[in-house]
Amino acid sequence: MLVRTISLIASAVATVLLALCFITFPASRVENANAYFQETSIRASGLVGTRTLALTFDDGPSAFTGKLLDILAQNNVKATFFIVGSRVKHRRETMERMAREGHVIANHSFSHAQLGRRYAASPELLLEQIAGTNDAIAPYVKPGQGLYFRAPYGVWRHAHARILNDDPVLRNYVGPIYWDIGGQIVTDDEGNTRSAADWDCWSRDWDADRCARGYQREIARKQGGIVLMHDIRERSIWMVQALLPALVAEGYKFVTLDEIKALDQFKTPLSQDVPVADAGSTPRMGLLAQ
Ligand SMILES: [Zn+2]
Repeated sequence: MLVRTISLIASAVATVLLALCFITFPASRVENANAYFQETSIRASGLVGTRTLALTFDDGPSAFTGKLLDILAQNNVKATFFIVGSRVKHRRETMERMAREGHVIANHSFSHAQLGRRYAASPELLLEQIAGTNDAIAPYVKPGQGLYFRAPYGVWRHAHARILNDDPVLRNYVGPIYWDIGGQIVTDDEGNTRSAADWDCWSRDWDADRCARGYQREIARKQGGIVLMHDIRERSIWMVQALLPALVAEGYKFVTLDEIKALDQFKTPLSQDVPVADAGSTPRMGLLAQ
């Protein structure tokens, strides 16, 4: 009898402890999700299946970005540009136009560095890469716009998040941002292109139409998502010229990263010392959704 009572008490205590775990665990998870720079790339755009596309162009600005801006304007589409900071000083007019025409300007490191182990071991090198581009793009970033980062080659290390979140400015970034569409070339058994990645299309010497078909098929299957493309090769621009009017005609909606609700959970929470009323009336860079 005594043994039975003890075991009943023990199981009751275990149940209460377990319940406490479930009550407290979600709170700590929310805090982690709001830990600004993430330890791994953010893959959940929430756009797949919504017939909404976020076009992202990496590695520019280049001599071809102006032509791309023409095509986007003709189709009335706003995009997000992941900028390589070292290129900004050569293309100031392009940057100004990008900002003027309502595109979101984001950070893709200063020299397109592969941010591997060396950068985790030397925090000052990592900070240089991200802060250097933050400074370069700052004059062109719309006040109140969210700050976004994408890692070159998708290479990232857990330790990077802690290093960057210790910086009072850089911790306002959301990232690294991954993609849903445009990651790789896939062909089926009959040799049909099922998906494409522009840089790899050009390394295989495909023409712009063939590459565009790969993008179009992946988009048709996924029905929405963040699309990865580049604006440093002329063929990518021809591809957008072929692809974009077709997508517009099919009725897809186009958004910038700043309009993606699923990314808001990764934004830096308002600090405790900012009165709520002020926070509402004065947009602060990286803190409020547009
Ligand atoms: Zn890149």
